[in-house]
Amino acid sequence: MECDVCGQAMWQWPVVPTAWEEEIWSCLWCHATTHVGGEWFEISRPQYLPVEMRWERAVADGLPADVSHAFGVFDKTLCGIQETGMSPSDHWWLPERANACGACLAAATAIDGRWPQVMRGEGARVSVARRL
Ligand SMILES: [Zn+2]
Ligand SMILES: [Zn+2]
Repeated sequence: MECDVCGQAMWQWPVVPTAWEEEIWSCLWCHATTHVGGEWFEISRPQYLPVEMRWERAVADGLPADVSHAFGVFDKTLCGIQETGMSPSDHWWLPERANACGACLAAATAIDGRWPQVMRGEGARVSVARRL
């Protein structure tokens, strides 16, 4: 699948289909995601979010507790640390906190810059609702 935001190829997450989504596709360049299938949407494309509202803090056994890393994609932080079983927490990753990882912030800033202005507006990404 081609990314509707930046045009790069997206990759499919190795997840088990659920009632809410059958496939999840992510762009490694701008990190846009597209959800395919499910109860409510045929295609669901989450809108652009600014850096401080976009990432969740990564949790894994091997990660030090005193540095806050952002959860990027499967098993990986935004700055590239890989730990098996890594998951996003229920908390935002807040870049302005003193313990926020600088490399994660650099990556988040670069990713933010890959979103064209026209793709940041509300309704710029189009979801397809399922007909009932
Ligand atoms: Zn993209
Ligand atoms: Zn980091």
